[in-house]
Amino acid sequence: MKTSSVEHFHVSLNTPAGQITSEVAVPTGFIPVTAIVPLMRSMGGQMQELEQGRAVDQGQVVSCQKGCAACCRMLVPLSAPEAFAFKQFYDQLPEERQRVLRSRIESSQARLHEAGLLAPLNDVAESQHLLTDETLEPLNRAYYALRMPCPFLEDEHCTIYEERPAACRELLVTSPPELCQDLTNPAIQALPVSVRISTTLGLLWAELTGTAERLIPLPVALDWALRHQEDRHRTWPGNELFDKLLDKVWRYLSQELHRRNTPGG
Ligand code: SF4
Repeated sequence: MKTSSVEHFHVSLNTPAGQITSEVAVPTGFIPVTAIVPLMRSMGGQMQELEQGRAVDQGQVVSCQKGCAACCRMLVPLSAPEAFAFKQFYDQLPEERQRVLRSRIESSQARLHEAGLLAPLNDVAESQHLLTDETLEPLNRAYYALRMPCPFLEDEHCTIYEERPAACRELLVTSPPELCQDLTNPAIQALPVSVRISTTLGLLWAELTGTAERLIPLPVALDWALRHQEDRHRTWPGNELFDKLLDKVWRYLSQELHRRNTPGG
């Protein structure tokens, strides 16, 4: 069905945990990349529900509960579209709330600066080439060693829950919760993820802009989005964004299906 400004699609995807279906309304005009973030989150959420359902069917219990924020001391990476979406979210908050969040971010950055981590995190955000896991691992470990709560954590609750990054949404564990007091513990069992939202959005952004796929650490994401305002306001035809995004999702899914069907994968 076609209207003057929106095209409707029926999307059906086979994931390792089952099939998801969505009715998607895609604007036919030009839209910014942030307009596609809610769709990706919605698909990611559906896939995660399937993974959880499958885990429960297999007798596993998801340990993550409201009020447990042990994982909110890890370094959270965002894709560029998520960083822009976060800036958009921040901009529409009441001024007083913005002041509170800004002050929390600045406190975190001051601590990171003292620990010699702020400049490396900004370097990661601005990197012109894809950084390998091996390069990022020492930084992740040094960050986690601080056991610094995320700037958006208050009384062990996420204050930006609806807007939290994909990396936060995707981490669910089935191992006993007490193990999460040390997230370097190899006994921690995380639920598999069919499609990583931030990777997919990061690949989309890299293709749209002809740049390297990048990761933007959460404590510097707002500043990064501010420095890249012009990119935030760029627009593309809605159907082009949607097609490219689905292409990335399909590629990720086929790799993940292959990985899970490969012995030892
Ligand atoms: S954004 Fe929310 S869920 Fe993610 S680390 Fe921060 S407090 Fe935790």
